[in-house]
Amino acid sequence: MNRIFNFNAGPAVLPLEVLEEVQNELINYKNSGMSILEMSHRSSLYETINVEAENDIKELLGLDDEYCVLFMGGGASTQFSMVPLNFLSKEATAGYIITSTFSEKAVQEAEKIGKTQILFSSKEHRFNRVPRPEEIVIDQDLAYVHLTGNNTIEGTEFFAYPQTGKVPLIADLSSDILSKPIEAKRFSLIYAGAQKNIGPGGVTVIIARKSFLAGRSTSLPTMLNYEVHMDNNSLYNTPPVFGVYIIAKVVKWLKNQGGLIQILNKNKEKAQIIYNVIDDLPEFYQGYADVSSRSLMNITFGLPNENLEKKFVEEAEHQGMVGLQGHRSVGGLRASIYNAMTLDGCSALASFMKDFYLNNR
Ligand SMILES: *Cc1c(COP(=O)(O)O)cnc(C)c1O
Repeated sequence: MNRIFNFNAGPAVLPLEVLEEVQNELINYKNSGMSILEMSHRSSLYETINVEAENDIKELLGLDDEYCVLFMGGGASTQFSMVPLNFLSKEATAGYIITSTFSEKAVQEAEKIGKTQILFSSKEHRFNRVPRPEEIVIDQDLAYVHLTGNNTIEGTEFFAYPQTGKVPLIADLSSDILSKPIEAKRFSLIYAGAQKNIGPGGVTVIIARKSFLAGRSTSLPTMLNYEVHMDNNSLYNTPPVFGVYIIAKVVKWLKNQGGLIQILNKNKEKAQIIYNVIDDLPEFYQGYADVSSRSLMNITFGLPNENLEKKFVEEAEHQGMVGLQGHRSVGGLRASIYNAMTLDGCSALASFMKDFYLNNR
């Protein structure tokens, strides 16, 4: 079997064990005589998947029944609009922490609904860091505060979140969801496109305090009203069933590894192997992110010139490592090493980087 090391930013690598399980049960799911792709979302077999995925995510995050987990279509990008539609009015102001092009997209949607206040922006420094919690001052009249937990394109990540007092904290954790323990109860709502850390494209996970979702305006379009999805356990309409099925499996795989502390330790070890090469050869490998904000999920770096970067990507591909081209908006190189990327994959990249240096310095 020719599996390669996949460093793509999203859709991204999934655990091989999960893919094998899916393959095994694809044609005939649990003796139903049909695949999960062909099954009613109202069937008891699907219901079980839906409930187990929700409960396992809550268990990993240490959440109780004050919280619900919803599965929706539309990607994280739809959440950029849903959040202000549900929680911001024309007269009110929402606070946004701008640490990436994704945060900018989020605030642009809020500006269409109500007023916004930029609480922090690292744009002038090409989004090379996230703020320290004490840099953020929060006016207690804000409707909510929004932040981007891991900045997929730039390679920076929050490891401590600002205290927001009584103002609800909302986060886009698309690229670091379930990659480390977080104080989940500090968030009123978390959303994440599944395709980075926990599943395939086409399904978005929303984790929210039930009391926060209750009491939405009935004038909202039905499909854009969180309360409708909560009241129907994500089954108001046909959910992205196959995506939820994969998430359910990935979440079990995460639980089998012992939980989020174990996952974090593994992710730290993986990232360190690659950051060590960057730090040992600073004339050659130029880290993009400020060291204090370095992401454990997306490692961004450049080489002395673009020709070398092109050569790096090509030669890595020949050695079975793909997806290392940086995002078009920042250039350079990027290794995305989400939960499912193995230690072997990171070691292979690190040794390739050392060889590439020796051959091209
Ligand atoms: C990928 C990504 C998005 C966009 O997700 P879609 O599912 O493609 O809409 C938003 N925010 C972050 C942090 C991301 O990494």
